[in-house]
Amino acid sequence: MPASPFPSFVPEPTRSRRVLRFAVFGVVASGLASAAFILWLFGEQMVAAGFVAAFLALAVVALVVEHLQVRRVRDVSDPDWALFRAIADNEGEAVAITNQQDALVCASGSFGHWFGGLVPPPRLSLPDGGGAALAAAGLSAWRDGEARLIGLAGPNGLFDVRVTRAGRRDDHLIWRFAHARSLDVVGEARAIVQGRYGVGLGEGGAMAAVVDADGRLLACNTLFATRALGGPSMRPEGLEFSQLFATRGEDQVHLAAEPAGPPLRFIRMSLPGDDGAGASLFLMLDEKPPVQVVASSSNNSANPESLLGILPLGLALADRDGRFLFLNAAFRKAAGLGPEEAPVYPSDLVVKDDKAVVADAVRRFAMGQSVPGDVAVRLKRRAEEPVALTIAPARGLGDDAAILLSLKDNSEESRLKRQVAQATKMQAVGQLAGGVAHDFNNILTAIIGYCDLMLMRHAPGDSDYDDIQQIKHNSNRAAGLTRQLLAFSRQQTLRPQVLQLSDVVAEVSNLLKRLLGERMTLVTKHGRNLGAVRADPGQIEQVIVNLAVNARDAMPDGGALTIQTYAVSADEVRRMGHEMMPIGDYTALSVTDTGHGIPASIIGNIFEPFFTTKEVGKGTGLGLSTVYGIVKQSGGFIFAESPEEGGARFVMYLPVHRSAKTGESEGDAAPVRERPTELWGTGNILLVEDEDMVRAVAERALVRQGYRVRTAANGEDALEMLEANADPIDLLISDVMMPSMDGPTLAGHARRLMPDLPILFMSGYAEEQLRKSIDLDRVHFLPKPFSVQQLAEAARDVLAMAPVKGGLAANQN
Ligand code: ADP
Repeated sequence: MPASPFPSFVPEPTRSRRVLRFAVFGVVASGLASAAFILWLFGEQMVAAGFVAAFLALAVVALVVEHLQVRRVRDVSDPDWALFRAIADNEGEAVAITNQQDALVCASGSFGHWFGGLVPPPRLSLPDGGGAALAAAGLSAWRDGEARLIGLAGPNGLFDVRVTRAGRRDDHLIWRFAHARSLDVVGEARAIVQGRYGVGLGEGGAMAAVVDADGRLLACNTLFATRALGGPSMRPEGLEFSQLFATRGEDQVHLAAEPAGPPLRFIRMSLPGDDGAGASLFLMLDEKPPVQVVASSSNNSANPESLLGILPLGLALADRDGRFLFLNAAFRKAAGLGPEEAPVYPSDLVVKDDKAVVADAVRRFAMGQSVPGDVAVRLKRRAEEPVALTIAPARGLGDDAAILLSLKDNSEESRLKRQVAQATKMQAVGQLAGGVAHDFNNILTAIIGYCDLMLMRHAPGDSDYDDIQQIKHNSNRAAGLTRQLLAFSRQQTLRPQVLQLSDVVAEVSNLLKRLLGERMTLVTKHGRNLGAVRADPGQIEQVIVNLAVNARDAMPDGGALTIQTYAVSADEVRRMGHEMMPIGDYTALSVTDTGHGIPASIIGNIFEPFFTTKEVGKGTGLGLSTVYGIVKQSGGFIFAESPEEGGARFVMYLPVHRSAKTGESEGDAAPVRERPTELWGTGNILLVEDEDMVRAVAERALVRQGYRVRTAANGEDALEMLEANADPIDLLISDVMMPSMDGPTLAGHARRLMPDLPILFMSGYAEEQLRKSIDLDRVHFLPKPFSVQQLAEAARDVLAMAPVKGGLAANQN
């Protein structure tokens, strides 16, 4: 037996023990010294004696504690390695222990014999890369706690290895080497079939028999003995296997002992014998339609297939060769299999490119991999989306079953994923659109502003006047487009105006004609005595466009789209009897098409967000929900109907706007004009805007109205100006989005310096959103793009609302 390589060491407790004893002596000595001193000083013998007694008691306690501690530490720290080797020495096994440095701490005698010396297992050199496999197993065991190797070639034949992490601090590895079991597969098969596994198979309804190369029975399980030989204790050895069966019809084989018995299904497995003789293991099952197997499940819980059959999870069993043994209904559904289809291998279910991956994974499990894993595969039936095929070893699910496969039916999940992806896409597109619209608003503000400034210098008869008007008109149209972009990204600023619906239809009809194409005709009809309504023209355009797009989609072969406006009196509303619609005068706008119409089953859902019947990529389901939102926001109502004669009809009712002063409808009046106002003002304005062109045009517009304007290109400069306080500011006009310090931050600082400072924000984003993000009161908003006049008005109004302070109020004449 080789000497133990375990290094001797002085255990830590020994050292601490010495220190403790030293301390105890110290305590006793100092106790005696103190007692002597007390005796000398006071002459009190009793006191000195008490002192000595107390110190002695202390020392005794310390010694007891020390003794107990040392025993405990010794118990756990001093392993008796000789004892360990005696236990580990065992003919069939070699054991070694290594520490974290891969040094051999201890080894059984047989380890030295097997490997010809005391080399730590991770450094053993073995044929066929065995050394590297051992080193890798060591690493796995450090990581996972355990690792196994099977059939490693060693100096004395094949051996199996099991490495486990052990020790109080998990700082050692125990390596156990055992001779690989001899490959008497036939013998083992006989033992299995005759033993309790054979009984288990019988309970699961399977007959099993081992047959030699000449077709003679070597062994069988009790179920086979009972059914084929006439009794559980009948000896099968030597009987001709084929004689025990009979055929019925062309392809049905049954037991000869059961002339009316069920047909049998045979599973044959060749058993490689040492001598190469071809014995076989036969499993025989009663052939039943698969439905019956599942149906009979409840009264035979021992059959794993019947259990798997009723589970809602997609589960399948495969044998060691990767052949399907069983697929439950959920698995068939998840894999998209028809009732007649019977795939042989799991790889038959997947697309060509994934076949190798699946076959490989199945093979790994058949060879003993034990940690279940997921393989992402694309099914033949649903190649567009990868699914996870889970493969796990099938322990305890019948002797054939080596692999358990699980497939989740994720079609519903995929549908939801697609919906979320679509919504995310819409949001991303909305953000992009919002960003683009914001930049456009800046450019349009500058163009419209310069047009305004030029128009002020030109009289209407002037040759340039009309051209400038054209530029302005087109810029306003562009501004309308950016509004649509902002509406789409739900960042629109609401700008309700008193307007005529017929004007909006006229404005949008060119766009509609282009949208509908040549195969569809657009008919517009306007009723008489239409009342004006109060709404945002851009949003109403959006409503009409969305309805027209749906009508176009409903008329793929062409048709007619009719847009009609008409007045609806309070009496008519009463007669219509719409419960939600308050009685009053309305102006209606109807959009009617001659398309396929809306089925009654979905008409209640069409205004829901994301409700669409259009194919993926064509419809978002947001068109009508946007329409609904806009109409509601404008105080109106919208209804859809699909008349029997075909087509669809949407009717929007907006309440007729009554002027606050007179109560009269502003409807039939001439086009609504902005009232001329006096825009002159005085006061100091600090104008903060990072876009040079917007800043320049706004500055000119304000200076023109009589204000003293100081400008800053960013928040920091503006703050410096405010802090310098050279010329007190009466109004801060600022952009919202600016690099580094944004408008709201600047406004916060400004209010700390000047608590009453009026603030006007200019922004291309929605007022409601900005209000939410700005925690200041008395701030005002001017949406971009704005005209010179609008800016002047806004400045005047904000200053007029500001508290009068130190004589610096706005001039409001
Ligand atoms: P999308 O157009 O993206 O599908 P919408 O919210 O605009 O979303 O429309 C929802 C659904 O309403 C449409 O998918 C369609 O089934 C139905 N629909 C809307 N307008 C019409 C119409 N004019 N004719 C027939 N069906 C319509």
